[in-house]
Amino acid sequence: MFTRILIANRGEIALRIIRACHELGIEAVAVYSEADRGAPYLQMADEAVCIGPAQPAKSYLHIPAIISAAEVADVDAIHPGYGFLAENAHFAEICGECGITFIGPDPVSMRMLGDKVQARQIAQKSRVPLVPGSEGEIKDEAEAIKLANKIGYPVILKAAAGGGGRGMRVAHNDISLHKAFGAARTEAEAAFKNGALYLEKFILQPRHVEVQIMADKSGNVVHFYERDCTIQRRHQKLIEESPCPVIDEKIREELCRSALRLAQEANYQNAATVEFLLDRDRNFYFIEVNARIQVEHPVTEMVTGHDLIKWQIRIAAGQPLNLRQRDIKYSGVAMECRINAEDPARNFVPCPGRIDRFIQPGGPGVRIDTHLSQGSVISPYYDSMVSKVIVHQPTREQAIATMKRALREFRIEPIKTTIPACLKILSHNLFVKNQVDTSFIERHLGG
Ligand code: ADP
Repeated sequence: MFTRILIANRGEIALRIIRACHELGIEAVAVYSEADRGAPYLQMADEAVCIGPAQPAKSYLHIPAIISAAEVADVDAIHPGYGFLAENAHFAEICGECGITFIGPDPVSMRMLGDKVQARQIAQKSRVPLVPGSEGEIKDEAEAIKLANKIGYPVILKAAAGGGGRGMRVAHNDISLHKAFGAARTEAEAAFKNGALYLEKFILQPRHVEVQIMADKSGNVVHFYERDCTIQRRHQKLIEESPCPVIDEKIREELCRSALRLAQEANYQNAATVEFLLDRDRNFYFIEVNARIQVEHPVTEMVTGHDLIKWQIRIAAGQPLNLRQRDIKYSGVAMECRINAEDPARNFVPCPGRIDRFIQPGGPGVRIDTHLSQGSVISPYYDSMVSKVIVHQPTREQAIATMKRALREFRIEPIKTTIPACLKILSHNLFVKNQVDTSFIERHLGG
């Protein structure tokens, strides 16, 4: 097992990983930018190293700064968390060259799955249902229009290197596809330095359902069931829950088995999420793989009772996944609300600033993942997530009641947060009755 791990991240996920390290008897080394200097969570680490100025490109994304911190602190491994360098195959390679274990997949499968066109090809090989669409990259507009007419409008253009909802454009006819093609290519080039696009049928009113998997170095792969992340605003998730409330055991089994086949085909190691869209007739279609731990991993931890970060660390250290699939069970319902420093009344604009009053909810069934406290400053340089509120109860109805109670207890002042928006959703008839799709916020909350 490792003796010391460096965490190449910040905020709540850095703290989450520090805690997992300590429970495993491993020392945790945190890194911080000048904007995060003095943040209280850094005191929980065994050592904290400054890696540069506030701008992510000069600190949390700056590979030489992170590698030298790792060498100075003499760590055996690096945990990248999510975002920043988590899915950067080049970074994973450099870690390997420096004799530091990267806690995540190997660079080859990361690269393969990070390219969404290649990921679709792997899905096809492993007999996982795919959204009808292009075999590979779409070379030009004429090819896009020809294919769109074959599979039928509406279609969605997506960036092969995409992420975070960028580089996606929906088209309803030849004219809008003509416009969408140029816009998607320009956006993809600007965001990912890679203009490659592919095309899919646009699934009407889908739900977003994803499967958590974990694989060790000896080829053992298990799943930890699914999460439903249908409540999104502009493709950013806001509320997640597990299990998915609208599928039966037969579909659940097929869905989870599909994710396992794909992971096996890709020779995958460590944690991943296989994402699917579920259409109105409960058919599911693969969309992409996230080769890292995700923000919403706690809902899976609550329903299955497994600590996914600890599993990531053990597997990276070469320990076997000594779990049989049939021994992994889920019970009850877990739900997570992302509390972001954004103003829902003003089109969710970010609201950075100092928190003068911070009173955290608690009580039965409530878990709070946050690195903030009274006096903390939310920096405009980073993600606006302030806290994750996770609840776990025997039924969905009880989980919703506990979540509402917890959100009403939460005081984060004077900044504006997504708490009022989450409360509106939790009380909405369509959410309560499971009649939502990914466009719910745009259509019902004017997001
Ligand atoms: P990203 O990696 O940028 O997050 P994804 O491929 O995961 O992109 O898609 C993000 C979201 O976009 C999905 O959760 C879904 O809401 C929507 N989406 C993606 N593909 C389709 C599709 N073919 N039909 C309908 N909605 C889609």
